[in-house]
Amino acid sequence: MSESYVEYDEFGIVCVRCMQCGIPVAERTVKEVRIPSIPPKTENVLVVKRLSSWRQRRTEVEGGGYVDLILCSDCHAEPVSMADMTEKIAVASEATWAHEGRSEKDKAIFRKSLPTIARVAPSDELMKEQRGR
Ligand SMILES: [Zn+2]
Repeated sequence: MSESYVEYDEFGIVCVRCMQCGIPVAERTVKEVRIPSIPPKTENVLVVKRLSSWRQRRTEVEGGGYVDLILCSDCHAEPVSMADMTEKIAVASEATWAHEGRSEKDKAIFRKSLPTIARVAPSDELMKEQRGR
């Protein structure tokens, strides 16, 4: 079983990695947020910040619908293995459920609805899609 591309600790997401090569594409950081009050004050909050290498690639799943694969700027136009991506989603889902403290009964139900990647758009279609946004 591979490692989850989404890494958690007790506070939430620590980092999100490229589903293909594993480099971090988003990391948790501390952000100063202004609280509207008198006198104005700031508070530190934890946020997950996307790095410049963050890319998403929309893929169809079996039975209809889609998921967005999280890839880095180097991998987003490269061919990816559908079986590999399907497994990555399953592994990360387990990590999410563990973080959320889901019961074994819930997990058993959720596992049945995990997506199977049906088709990854070739990069030319991907470019069109991105221009359309
Ligand atoms: Zn990558």
